[in-house]
Amino acid sequence: MALGQILDGRPIAKAIREQVKTRAEKLRARGVIPACAIVVLAGDEPGRLYAEQIQKSGTSLGITILLRELPADAATNDVVVAVAQIVDDPHIQALMVQRPLPQRLDAERIAEEIDPRKDVDGAHPYNQGLLVAGETFLVPATAAAVMELLRQPQVGSLDGARAVVLGRSAVVGRPVALLLTAADATVTICHSHTKDLAQITREADILVAAVGHPNFVGAQMVKPGATVIDVGTNFVNGRFVGDVDFDTVLPVARLLTPVPGGVGPVTTAVLLRSVVEAAERSR
Ligand code: NAP
Repeated sequence: MALGQILDGRPIAKAIREQVKTRAEKLRARGVIPACAIVVLAGDEPGRLYAEQIQKSGTSLGITILLRELPADAATNDVVVAVAQIVDDPHIQALMVQRPLPQRLDAERIAEEIDPRKDVDGAHPYNQGLLVAGETFLVPATAAAVMELLRQPQVGSLDGARAVVLGRSAVVGRPVALLLTAADATVTICHSHTKDLAQITREADILVAAVGHPNFVGAQMVKPGATVIDVGTNFVNGRFVGDVDFDTVLPVARLLTPVPGGVGPVTTAVLLRSVVEAAERSR
């Protein structure tokens, strides 16, 4: 059997970054400095690492990224106040609150405080509602990155494709399923209560794994010739491991994203593109 190919996110991310750089330069020439604030709680190590990555990449493209770190024990109201301050700042056109937030915080109340026009990670109920209605304005960056990978020419048409999304979180699984539906795929969402999981995933031309369990998807769960997008970023023994068992699935799949180097870099690039879009709309 022919070996599957790696669907590398890095060149895709690079191409997006080049476009973002040009757009940021145009904004600066008009006197607008694109800026995004990221609210992150102290102690959220993956969140801080992701924010620093966005900051590094953004800075190299002429985008200001401000990290607003709040104490680990911040209350819902503390986060709401920080968000409100950023919303009121006319020099900051974009804002995201690093998710997932601890269970003790009211994530919906916090999301409601975000100005939908600055909401570059698609967390506000208004933007979520638009997505449900089939319109894409500002959508969660990871979900947008999955679609960016699936729109590569080697993937082929999504029209009528059988797609299975493993996971139904508000940040990844649900928005990916809605975006795939908008792209005319036929979509099944699976979660921890799904019965006969492998039977369902084996029907997928497009399989998106966002479960948060390392190496969860094995070869027996994959239809030969499928395109498999691995969203998982599980930190195991000092390195990132995907939700897909890369070595066993690659020979079965036609295309498979690696971890790291797949969805991750595209997510960062897509988020920065949303920052520039928000800045362009701000004037
Ligand atoms: P999450 O909120 O924990 O959601 C996990 C989903 O997987 C839930 O819907 C859950 O079902 C489902 N699930 C768990 N165990 C399952 C099982 N045994 N069988 C079937 N479904 C199962 O996680 P998330 O925030 O969506 O993130 C998922 C993964 O993506 C994580 O590894 C995370 O680190 C990664 N991630 C990557 C990026 C990136 O940019 N690369 C961004 C965000 C997240 P229930 O709903 O029934 O509980």
